[in-house]
Amino acid sequence: MPPGDSSAADRPAPADGEPARAPDDGDGEEPSGAAEDYLKAIYKLQPPSGGTVSTSALAEELGRSAAAVTNMVKSLAEKGHAEHVPYHGVRLTRRGEQAALRIIRRHRVIELYLIEKLGYRWDNVHEEAERMEHAASDELVDRMAAALGDPDFDPHGSPIPTSEGEMEDRAGVALSDLGSGARVVVREVADDDSERLRYLASMGLFPGTEVTVESEAPLDGPITVRVEGESHVLDQKLAESIVVEEL
Ligand SMILES: [Zn+2]
Repeated sequence: MPPGDSSAADRPAPADGEPARAPDDGDGEEPSGAAEDYLKAIYKLQPPSGGTVSTSALAEELGRSAAAVTNMVKSLAEKGHAEHVPYHGVRLTRRGEQAALRIIRRHRVIELYLIEKLGYRWDNVHEEAERMEHAASDELVDRMAAALGDPDFDPHGSPIPTSEGEMEDRAGVALSDLGSGARVVVREVADDDSERLRYLASMGLFPGTEVTVESEAPLDGPITVRVEGESHVLDQKLAESIVVEEL
């Protein structure tokens, strides 16, 4: 993890209106599927303060080579979606951020639609949404959202950006950061591991579920939680992937 955002502090707000060279962008405007995955990944890794993401962190997140990442970052910068900050990494422009939020909206609406309307389980929608998010138009997704009553959250508790690109920013804490005796309600769980989601479902642990931390093994060992009157052991990694709010 690089220190990242030191140089970001007081820049004269670039991003917004690209200077003179953007207009020929014409049909290059819609990012390709691969570019969309990069935009999402940068958005995910980017610190909220507007700092940068190192290309090595991006390479790891996406499972790509450093060379591939460098090329794509160059192409995103040419399209005005990102800017490369020498020695620090990459950050999204305003336009790149809006594009990322559109993809995140598509992903989350699709997941909820698959569950609510098509009977999918919460542990097998992510892969489907990963594919469909690149193909679905914004109009289709808006219609899916309308059919669902314009929901605010996806099945895993993640906020759904509005069609205007606004997303609720909720402060939450990881379950792993709490000590014994803490009473919390689950806000959000990571959605990218089906096995983990099945395990959570098996103990009745969903967004909205109340959980009490019973005990915590030292040295980042497993934690024991009480859910619906029963005790369960969660390893550190699993507990880190659960965002909660203290009651
Ligand atoms: Zn997902």
